[in-house]
Amino acid sequence: MRVPMNDIILLKQGEIVLKGLNRRIFEDKLVANVRRRMAHIGNFRIYAAQSTVYVEPLDDGADMDAAFEAAKQIFGFVAIVRAAACPKDPDAIFETARTYLAEDLAGARSFKVESKRSDKAYPMTSIQVSQYVGGLLAEAFPDVRVDVHDPELTVHVEIRENAAYVHSVPTLGAGGMPVGSCGSAVSMLSGGIDSPVSTWMTAKRGVQIVPVHFFSFPYTSELAKQKVIDLARILAPWCGRMTLQIVPFTHIQEEIRDHCPEEYFTVIMRRFMTRISERIALMNGCGAIVTGESLGQVASQTMQAMAVTQEPVRLPVLRPLVCMDKREIIEIARKIDTFETSILPYEDCCTVFTPRHPRTRPRLEDVLEAEKPLDIDALVEEAVTNIERISISK
Ligand code: ATP
Ligand code: MG
Repeated sequence: MRVPMNDIILLKQGEIVLKGLNRRIFEDKLVANVRRRMAHIGNFRIYAAQSTVYVEPLDDGADMDAAFEAAKQIFGFVAIVRAAACPKDPDAIFETARTYLAEDLAGARSFKVESKRSDKAYPMTSIQVSQYVGGLLAEAFPDVRVDVHDPELTVHVEIRENAAYVHSVPTLGAGGMPVGSCGSAVSMLSGGIDSPVSTWMTAKRGVQIVPVHFFSFPYTSELAKQKVIDLARILAPWCGRMTLQIVPFTHIQEEIRDHCPEEYFTVIMRRFMTRISERIALMNGCGAIVTGESLGQVASQTMQAMAVTQEPVRLPVLRPLVCMDKREIIEIARKIDTFETSILPYEDCCTVFTPRHPRTRPRLEDVLEAEKPLDIDALVEEAVTNIERISISK
């Protein structure tokens, strides 16, 4: 067995460890997602063992800093660490810690060694390893004191099947579940602050995303469309490869404007969005429709309006933001880096033909009556037929 002597990244699996039967499928997804993400960064050997995915560079050209940054955006890991791999003998472990963590050890006031051993046949206990390596490190760095209770630096030693690994503090992983392990969904992506966040949250739960944007050219400009493409690109490192569906929405909006009472414009428009989203979902094998709606945020986001909006479809409508405050949503938007793009001031189709006095509590009977003059099936068909598909990859 070749023992890697170099810098390595360990990605520690999260929740999926618990999922007995599905574990294998989940793990395969996870490894595939890591491979896809690392492919353009360099040449790596990527494999899973003992609830960990290993990313091992195969040549000097692999950019480990870039790989580590990319790893932070892969759902399904609770922690990620950069470690040095070495042979499992205690002197080699000490030597590796001494050189690999030299700067950390020289800069800390106190330290301890914490060892874990998943190779149960290993001749020393974890405590013996910690004591042995800690003792030698204390001699090598006489200015750093050993403090097993509250050390400034913890030197982690993991003794696994093929090698030992030495590292300092682990970094928090992205959490969630591997994308693709929980089916797929259509996500309605406007250019606003909310829907990129709801899209990200859904991907975090392991859902493959098919983003859909309703585009009302020339009422909304090419810039508005470009903004949505940019948002999808920012989301791609988290969500994986996606095909953005741009639905031409102008004719539908004009028909609504010309034939329906103004106070129902918004709710009727939103019913069209739901219908078309369901059609796209069924064409792509998706099991749900995701929106960025949040209870009470605007007139179309009351419970009554939500009920009327989802009435034409059978698929579940998922609303990850439904009970979040705007402040909480913005916090995530900043964290995932969509906020600055979302606040660019381009019109969205929802702001075209906005009624002055929208119905906040529409009744279904009234809405059905109001949309009667429209040839709904033909309009949906026309929109679906003319979808533009844009491939989004990282
Ligand atoms: P956002 O910040 O996501 O734009 P919002 O607070 O502006 O949301 P609405 O405009 O009422 O709320 O839209 C509610 C949801 O409907 C959006 O979060 C999004 O999921 C969907 N939606 C609205 N407009 C569009 C559009 N042009 N294309 C795709 N989805 C849309
Ligand atoms: Mg909006």
